[in-house]
Parts: sequence; C-alpha cells; structure tokens
Amino acid sequence: MKILVIGAGVGGLAAARALLAAGHEVRVHEQAPGPRTGGKAVLIWSNGNAVLHDLGITLDGAGNRIDRIDALTPSGRLRTGQDIAHAASRYGFETKAIARRDLLGRLAEGLPEGVVRYGVACTGLTQDGDSVTASFHDGSTATGDLLVGADGHHSAVRRHLWGEGTVRPATFGTWQGLSPIGIELTGTHRHLMISGREGACGLMPAGGGLLQWWFDMRWKPGDPRPASPLAELRRRFGHWAAPVPQVLATAADEDVEFFGHHWNKVRKVWGEGRVTLVGDAAHTMPPTLGQGANQTLEDAWVLGRALGGEGDPAAGLRAYERARYPQISLVSRMARRNPANWRIPPLIGRLFPETAQSAMLARFSNRLAAESP
Ligand SMILES: Cc1cc2nc3c(=O)[nH]c(=O)nc-3n(C[C@H](O)[C@H](O)[C@H](O)COP(=O)(O)OP(=O)(O)OC[C@H]3O[C@@H](n4cnc5c(N)ncnc54)[C@H](O)[C@@H]3O)c2cc1C
Repeated sequence: MKILVIGAGVGGLAAARALLAAGHEVRVHEQAPGPRTGGKAVLIWSNGNAVLHDLGITLDGAGNRIDRIDALTPSGRLRTGQDIAHAASRYGFETKAIARRDLLGRLAEGLPEGVVRYGVACTGLTQDGDSVTASFHDGSTATGDLLVGADGHHSAVRRHLWGEGTVRPATFGTWQGLSPIGIELTGTHRHLMISGREGACGLMPAGGGLLQWWFDMRWKPGDPRPASPLAELRRRFGHWAAPVPQVLATAADEDVEFFGHHWNKVRKVWGEGRVTLVGDAAHTMPPTLGQGANQTLEDAWVLGRALGGEGDPAAGLRAYERARYPQISLVSRMARRNPANWRIPPLIGRLFPETAQSAMLARFSNRLAAESP
C-alpha cells in the first residue's frame, strides 16, 4: 500500500520505518524546512528501546544509560529509590537519556532517499472508500491508500478528525535546559527527582558532559513569562539542597526553553476510515512519566504489525487503535497528575524496601508495555 505520514518527529519516523519493514510504500511530509537539530533530552525506557531494536535502531554510543532514579526532598533526604537497571536486565534493554536530535538522527538513519519531504505543512485532507488525499500549505497534494497523522500535539490531522477544543491545558509547565554542567552527577547514571512546595526538579545526566535539568511549576495559558526565567528559578528553587543551586548557578538563560503541558482524553477509536493517528496527535500528555515518546514508539510498532497482512486496510487501522487503547489510556491518566503534588509518605519507604520498589517498577513497566516486542 501507499501510505502518507504527516510529521517527521519520533512518531512519524518510527511509523515510516515500521511500515517500510512491513512492505509498504511510505512518504513522510514534514512542515519544518529540514531535520530537527535542537531540542533537549528525553528518557527512552526499556519499552521504547525494545521497539527501536526491533526497528533495527541501536542507541549504542548515544546518550547515557540511566541505572537509578532517586526521589529526594528539597533538603536532599532520600524519599525512595528505584533500581532501573533491574528492569533493564529483566527486559534486556537499557533505559537511556538521549538528546532528541540524536534520537531523531538514529530514526532517520538508513531511510531510503526521498522518503521524507520537508517544508510542507498539511492543511487538510479528504477521503473516500478507496483513497485519502492530503493538501499542503503550498497548494500541493498527495494521495495514498492510508494516512497516518504523526503531527504532534497541535495535530492538523486530529483537528480534521475530532474538531477543535479536544486538547486541554494541564496544570503545570516545564522550564528546561540541556547544558554542560560540571557537577559530579553529570558523570553518573543516576537520575534525581526532587519535589517540594515550590514545584519539582529533575536532573538527568544525558552523556557527553551534558545534564538535562528541568523545573515543573504550576501554569495556565496566559500566565506572564518572566523576563529572565533563570532569575525566577533561582528565586524559587535556589535554597534547595545541592546540587540544585549549582545547576542554577551554571545554567544560562539562552539554555532555557518552556513548555506548557496539555492533555487529551484518549479515545477508544481515534481514527476514521483510512486515517489514523500516532503519538501526541492521539494522546497528548504531560511528561510526568517520561513515556510520551516511548508510547509513540509503541504505537508505530503496533501499527506496522496491524498493517502487516493482506486484509481490509481500514480494519487494520481500527485493530491497531483497539490494541493500543488499554495501555495508552492508563499511561495518559497517570501522566495527567502534577508531579509538584506528589507526596511520597515516608511510611512507603519503610514498608517497601528498595528491592520491592524496583520489582514493583519492573512490573509496572511491563504493564505499560504489554504490546512490546
Ligand atoms: C518538556 C518535555 C519533556 C519530555 N520528556 C520526555 C521523556 O523524557 N520521555 C518521553 O518518552 N517523552 C517525553 N516527552 C514527550 C515526547 O516529546 C512526545 O511524546 C513525542 O515527541 C511525541 O512524538 P510525536 O512524533 O507524536 O510528536 P512530535 O515529536 O511533536 O513531532 C511532530 C512532528 O510533526 C510536525 N508537524 C506538525 N504539524 C504539522 C503539519 N501540519 N504538517 C506537517 N508536519 C507537521 C512537527 O514539525 C514535528 O516534526 C517530553 C515532552 C516535553 C514537552
């Protein structure tokens, strides 16, 4: 079949690879003028890494392996720790922090010449019983047997299917940076999550001397942006225990970017006829669990499998959506919660020693990744 993919982010490139591997002819249409070179780091868990492996992609030599996630109080006391290496050894795939540009580079590597067409924004689509046609801002069109909307959380394809107003602001936003910060943590495989009354902070070594750092704070659309985000972050979080003040002292304003988060209720059937969605277009969620890109990779993998046989193509798309719904609706509901509201009672730490918590995490990851290879 001839399949049109809209968007060359994580979902679009992964879908292209999965669909090419299933024997289809694929063309990806991306609004950006060329491959993305910016962006901060993301955490690719064992489930996402397993999908990448199945798509023929290795993360060897890129990013940084994460072995532990420790949750701390603002004063630096350990609330709870999780041994991520335990899940990795159970599934055979490491959890890695990796710069988004490197992840996209690995996904694009080896795609046949001309599969991705840059500089074209999809503005609409029409379909009948046999085909689907996408139109683009420059007046061009493309026709295929199926269309996959992988155009992220502002998705034009989703707007066409669902109408306006289906994605709502979440309660918090993130200030983040990926910076060369020379503290001991940067050279380790330990990811810190710190939460307190002021908000939450994450510190994740991303390899190559880079530290991914972020601060989550309550946010609503229209909130004024501070002239110097770092001055505001230092005012709010500068009194927290080391290494937070050191990170804030070293980072520069030009390193910082802001995301206000959004959420949509996942639909049991999210496509229609010959059109479906993958990734944030289908399930926008705040990055609370660090699963958005991982679940997007799972979408692509399941879609490739669902379109692997002969059968009715539209039925294949509905089978894919049905297969993904139970996991993705669970992850999405959990991710909606604001991490600044997380309060892990000390009793949990005492009742469940670290080994038990790590085993629970591995079981939980397994539940999130019930479709993984
Ligand atoms: C601050 C932050 C931190 C995150 N951290 C993590 C993490 O640690 N782990 C994790 O798993 N996830 C994380 N996520 C979530 C993750 O980034 C997303 O879930 C993932 O990028 C979704 O991939 P996607 O391909 O659906 O969308 P995107 O990556 O947004 O890609 C969409 C693509 O479509 C293109 N496009 C848009 N509209 C059009 C159009 N009309 N026509 C053509 N092209 C179009 C865009 O230019 C873009 O290239 C984080 C998100 C944020 C905001």
